[in-house]
Parts: sequence; structure tokens; C-alpha cells
Amino acid sequence: MTHDWKAIDAAVCVEPGKKSKLSARDCDGAELFPEREAAEAALKDCAKAIDELQDRLWAERSRALLVILQGIDTSGKDGTVRGVFNKCGPLGVNVAAFGKPSEEELAHDYLWRVHMATPKKGMIGVFNRSHYEDVLVVKVRALAPADVVERRYDQINAFEKHLTENGVTVLKFMLHISKDEQRQRLQERLDQPEKNWKFNPGDLEDRKLWDQYQVAYETLLDRCSTAHAPWRVIPADKKWRRNAIIAAIVHGTLEEMNPRYPVVDWKAGDFVVE
Ligand code: ADP
Repeated sequence: MTHDWKAIDAAVCVEPGKKSKLSARDCDGAELFPEREAAEAALKDCAKAIDELQDRLWAERSRALLVILQGIDTSGKDGTVRGVFNKCGPLGVNVAAFGKPSEEELAHDYLWRVHMATPKKGMIGVFNRSHYEDVLVVKVRALAPADVVERRYDQINAFEKHLTENGVTVLKFMLHISKDEQRQRLQERLDQPEKNWKFNPGDLEDRKLWDQYQVAYETLLDRCSTAHAPWRVIPADKKWRRNAIIAAIVHGTLEEMNPRYPVVDWKAGDFVVE
């Protein structure tokens, strides 16, 4: 491996108990992977290694990895899934996207649909948006009373503690893009016919609330970066760098989990294949 994933991780991690200082965090991250070619080579290696480690995770069948992707519209959540997990077999990775809650989902507590989508033992689960929408859009658009939202930070920390104590490692990535980069990406969706389908006029309404969203993100980073499930703020203006950073951390984390193939209680010589 040519990169030092621990150093990369330390640079993007929000230290539990410390202020995240989101506005001071870089959206470019040039010092983490300065060269595009090297970043793309690292991504390729990591994606392949993630697939091999997932195979071991499945064989071991006792633990799971949950990768949570959050970010403002156009921040690259879909592109991250494609870029980082594209070498994994479709049986080993489960992607769940969380949009506006259905009537059924609203009839339950907000963590119900999320808990149901957590990965089972042996799997990597990826959340495209997550329970953090319940302290983001819900807060910014006042979809629930302020005191109800206020209680959710502690509830989320307790929920994630519950997961980690039950064999689910939780990795949380906020894809951090600049307001100017979002303007360019939205404009591309208007200008490029093959991207027109991605354009949603509602995104322009959310863009008007940019500052309120940044404050809501900063609050959840400050309050929900915990020792058991810290937040990582990923510089995401460059798609290739974003993917390389996230793949490096996912790979490093899986390696530390070190899933093992089960030891069988027979020898190949015990059997004859006729
Ligand atoms: P995306 O924008 O991620 O590609 P969609 O177009 O389906 O996918 O958008 C999902 C929308 O659902 C977002 O606007 C998001 O804010 C909204 N959403 C997600 N979770 C909730 C929630 N708990 N309450 C209200 N809206 C939510």
C-alpha cells in the first residue's frame, strides 16, 4: 500500500468531544492525495481488497460493517457507492437509500426504518442518507418540534452504541463540498442531457437554505462524533480524491476488523470427489 491510511483518517476524523469547526474544513483536501493518478491507483487496490475482506467477513458470519454516507445534494453519495464498492460482489453489499418517509414509516419512530436496514452479520451495509436526515432536513424545515429534534442526538448516539456493541462497526462519512462546487454540479444537471434526469427543482430550494444546512451539519458533527462511531468529514470537491479517501478508510477499517475464514474440522484427504 502506498498511502498511510491512518494519517488520512486522522486528518478527516472529528475528534469525539471536540468542536468539528466545519466551516474551517477544506473541501479540496489536496494534501491527502495530491496526485490524481496515484489516487486512482490506490482506489483500485482498495476496492479489490475491500471485496476480498468482505468475502472473509461473510465466511466468518459474526460481524458487519455499516457505512453511512451523508452530504448535501450533489455531494456525491451515489458516486461514492459506485466508486468504492464496485468490485464487491452484489451478494455482499447492501445499499439502502432513505428518502421522504412513507406513511408506514412515519407511523413508527424515526429509527425503525433505519434499524431494519442495518446489515446482517457478514455483510457490508451502505446508507445513502440515514437517520441523520432526522436532525437535518427535519430540523431545517421544522418538520418536527425543536424539542423533539433536540432529543435525537443522544438517541442516535445510544442507537449507534447499541449497534457497535452488537457486532456492527459504524463508519460515518460526511461528503463536504463547497457552495461553488454545488452550483457547478447543479448547472451540469441542467446543461447535460444525460444528467437532466438528476435535476430536481427541490434541490434549488434546499440550496437557498445552504447556511442553515451547514449549521445543522456542524451541530450533528459536534454532538454525534463519538468514540464508538466518530464522524469523518471528507473533502469532496474532487470526486477521485473523495473516493480514494473513503476507500482507504473502509479498507483500513476492514483490515483492522480482520475477519477470518472459519477453521473446518476435516481434512481434504477425508473425502473423495467422485
Ligand atoms: P437523493 O436526493 O438522495 O438522490 P431523493 O431525490 O429520493 O434522493 O431525495 C431524498 C429526499 O428525501 C431528500 O430531499 C431528503 O432530504 C428527504 N428525506 C430523507 N429523509 C427524510 C426524513 N426523515 N424526513 C423528511 N425528508 C427526508
